[in-house]
Amino acid sequence: MKAQHKTSYNLLMSKNQTLIARSLHAVWHPCTQMKHHEHFPLIPIVRGEGVWLYDADGKRYLDTVSSWWVNLFGHNHPGIKEAIKQQLDTLEHVMLAGFTHEPVVALSEQLAKLTGLGHAFYASDGASATEIALKMSFHYWRNTGHAKKTKFISLQHSYHGETLGALGVTDVAIFKDTYAPLLLQSAQMPSPDFRLAEQGENAEQFALRCACALETYIAAHHDELAAFIIEPLVQCAGGMGFYHPVYLKRAREICTQYQVHLIADEIAVGFGRTGKMFACEHAAPHVSDIADFVCLSKGITGGYLPLSVVLTKDEIYQAFYDDRTVRGFLHSHSYTGNPLACSAALATLAIFEQAQVLHHNQNISKNIQTSMQVLTHLPIQHLRHQGMIHAFDVQTNNAQFSRDCYANGLAKGLLLRPIGNTVYFMPPYVINEEDIDWMVKQTALVVQQSL
Ligand SMILES: *Cc1c(COP(=O)(O)O)cnc(C)c1O
Repeated sequence: MKAQHKTSYNLLMSKNQTLIARSLHAVWHPCTQMKHHEHFPLIPIVRGEGVWLYDADGKRYLDTVSSWWVNLFGHNHPGIKEAIKQQLDTLEHVMLAGFTHEPVVALSEQLAKLTGLGHAFYASDGASATEIALKMSFHYWRNTGHAKKTKFISLQHSYHGETLGALGVTDVAIFKDTYAPLLLQSAQMPSPDFRLAEQGENAEQFALRCACALETYIAAHHDELAAFIIEPLVQCAGGMGFYHPVYLKRAREICTQYQVHLIADEIAVGFGRTGKMFACEHAAPHVSDIADFVCLSKGITGGYLPLSVVLTKDEIYQAFYDDRTVRGFLHSHSYTGNPLACSAALATLAIFEQAQVLHHNQNISKNIQTSMQVLTHLPIQHLRHQGMIHAFDVQTNNAQFSRDCYANGLAKGLLLRPIGNTVYFMPPYVINEEDIDWMVKQTALVVQQSL
């Protein structure tokens, strides 16, 4: 059984098995203890359509997690596909230092309009956006005579990516602890996740209490603080922790009072996931009312191509604008502002404009909530939703719950990836009523099986 994949691929193997064996031989998969694949299925996908993924043997899986939260309008979307194809016929890529092109300009203009933050700096992954925002914040303070502002704070249970800088402000032990000696030191503020509230305390009261703790810390340390980085409204990777928007409002006021930047990491929650275009809009009319920097990625291209961006305001941009080269932001990635990715993003934004997506999503969310009532006979708590994110926590003694649930889900044709004991749905926005009903009923069976 062990290391079977290392033997030659015999002709009796299905197409699936052949691809699995080759993958286990040659590919080092992300966020994975590869040895687990001795027992765990690796699923070879050959095509996607809408909310469904198909493997090489024709079996299909409902993508309830939007392929790690990136897909917005389903797999194989004609509009986004067409935009990429058209761009491919004219310009696939050109370096962005010293050069520019229509897709990156148009996308920056549209993002500026949507967020109120008028200067766009691009990269390809979310973690790179985090790095850029941290570096820009630090460099802004340095350029403006505050060289002592070198430290960052974030929330408990926060997640901002896996590169060294991003991991330094992340607070998920399983990702972070191993690399602790390599990381920049940052302090974590109490999370306003309302599952942590005391009995009798509502989400708003709890958020305000956490904001008080934030204020106490910032008041004492603002001299050395560059920025507070936060996932607005939902701490996704930390277990779909929701909190009251008053926390963002207070955080903004405190950061303004003490001259500390606020970096909104909307990498997971942007582009409609929380019910508004951006999660900051639950706390104020525009992202720019809350954030000095916003990081976007994941859904930005509808899940088609890697792209991330940091948007910031004029005052910050101006602090870098100078005759001296070193005062500029000398950061780059080879694929910065890739035209194919930008055209996918423009096509994605066009869908938001044409299709009344946020309005339509309200109905989908209601359907999911109604269907989820079948789960209430299970040992669960904190059944919750925020826009298109629906979650609940399972009470079980099974220490392997999340892995069992994942495997049992796959067996039933469901791509579910619980975070610890938190099961959640974050499907593409094109999921229909029938699929919602099926998804939730199958999930009830899977959870029951995995207790
Ligand atoms: C996924 C995520 C990141 C990291 O993005 P990558 O593209 O995986 O590097 C950062 N912040 C948040 C909130 C995320 O959910």
